[in-house]
Amino acid sequence: MYTTVPHWIDGAEYTATDTRTAEVTDPAEGVVTRNVALASSGDVALAVQAATDAFPGWRDTSLAKRTAILFRFRELLNERKPELAALITAEHGKILSDALAEVSRGQEVVEFACGIAQLVKGEFSENVSTNVDVHSVRAPLGPVAIISPFNFPAMVPMWFFPIAIAAGNTVILKPSEKVPSAAVWIARLWAEAGLPDGVFNVVNGDKVAVDALLTHPDIKSISFVGSTPIARYVYETGSAHGKRVQALGGAKNHMVVMPDADLDLAADEAVNGGFGSAGERCMAVSTVVAVGPIADRLAEKIAQRARSLRTGDGRRDCDMGPLVTAASKERVTGLIASGIEQGATLVVDGREISVDAPSTGFFVGPTLFDHVTTDMKIYTEEIFGPVLLIIRVDTLQEAIRLVNSNPYGNGTSIFTGDGRAARAFQNEIEVGMVGVNVPVPVPVAYYSFGGWKDSLFGDSHAHGADGVKFFTRARVVTSRWPLGAGTGINLGFPVNG
Ligand code: NAD
Repeated sequence: MYTTVPHWIDGAEYTATDTRTAEVTDPAEGVVTRNVALASSGDVALAVQAATDAFPGWRDTSLAKRTAILFRFRELLNERKPELAALITAEHGKILSDALAEVSRGQEVVEFACGIAQLVKGEFSENVSTNVDVHSVRAPLGPVAIISPFNFPAMVPMWFFPIAIAAGNTVILKPSEKVPSAAVWIARLWAEAGLPDGVFNVVNGDKVAVDALLTHPDIKSISFVGSTPIARYVYETGSAHGKRVQALGGAKNHMVVMPDADLDLAADEAVNGGFGSAGERCMAVSTVVAVGPIADRLAEKIAQRARSLRTGDGRRDCDMGPLVTAASKERVTGLIASGIEQGATLVVDGREISVDAPSTGFFVGPTLFDHVTTDMKIYTEEIFGPVLLIIRVDTLQEAIRLVNSNPYGNGTSIFTGDGRAARAFQNEIEVGMVGVNVPVPVPVAYYSFGGWKDSLFGDSHAHGADGVKFFTRARVVTSRWPLGAGTGINLGFPVNG
């Protein structure tokens, strides 16, 4: 285990001697466990140089050889994921089974990328004009950057790098400085799988590293995931520097519960989707929209379940771990106080709970507010903690208007037994990922993940067909092999014939 988590550049650990560092904490114990190196722009330049140098060789490596390395990486990851999950829990705090699940969801993208030979296949047309053929290829971009958030230290980077690498690009990953160890662990695994040096690099760091990547002339694309203000900044700065950018931002996800819904299922899923990973998921259910006369019964069922959750150290037997940092805990408890001040009904208070962990951990227990209105800060801000809100409305149309008025458009769901209501909802709702009786509708790897409106800046969603398109660019080749005589001089625009 490192005392200072290094970068990984050109197939080896790297830390500059005069580096700045930040502290990394174990959130369940609330203690600093190690430091992380924070890259300077010079450190980033070294990584970009390594990726630039490695690019021509990797681009020209056959699809068969690239795929063989991906398969080896998949096998190693599958064997060793408990190790990676333990690292995630130690720095993020989520319970071990959840950390394992995030690695498994990331692994699905590796498995999708193993089919790269099929995914980048071009087209060929013979004799488009006399003796003239046309074919298209999807070529890699070059060195690409991935900048990831704290809440999925393995899965979010894996939304991008398996496809980027499979398609022939070289990668620089800048993980969140709060959870740096998973990225370096993954880099070692790539080396073990036989990936050439310089194809996968990690720079740890903060805004300095991000800005260096956004403005470096040799970086061809940016895949960013994080909060909306930073996503907007990354999109604008990266685009202004001529890069292809996909920047996934924050969320406020609504779960609409219709009067005919199975209320026990809806209450179970509101609690699973609202409090899983302590609410630190961009697809977490943050607001339950209770339609019609069921609101009291639904609120009671959710409250009962929320009270039964066991909060503690994610390495022990419990349902929910701590928040990632002391600052997060302070932010979330501040928002809970604002909800009370602004008149919401606090049904379950997670601020004073007993936990199976040291009292120094960054714990907030499951918290439930009822009678929330859309002007309250707990509704207008992304809380990113275990705080679930209930808003009451009278009709489905009112629920749809509410969801569509929210600036975010990441995920949403409807719980109902009525196909017509579900169909109207999925048709009219302005959100990128929709669940029908599914609370957290995260698409599988061969579909694309992404929100609408303030939840995503750019044209491309992550993984699936969008991912392949994002990490490649089209080239169309028109060719002929002259049969002898010249064609004669003709300055006119060529017409096929
Ligand atoms: P964050 O925006 O604070 O950080 C994300 C990344 O940006 C990190 O690598 C961080 O080092 C970097 N960063 C932070 N401040 C910066 C600055 N001023 N300039 C440049 N770079 C900066 O986000 P977070 O707290 O790590 O993650 C939680 C957020 O991510 C939530 O808003 C959540 O909804 C969002 N998220 C979205 C998705 C999605 O798919 N839409 C997925 C996961 C998380």
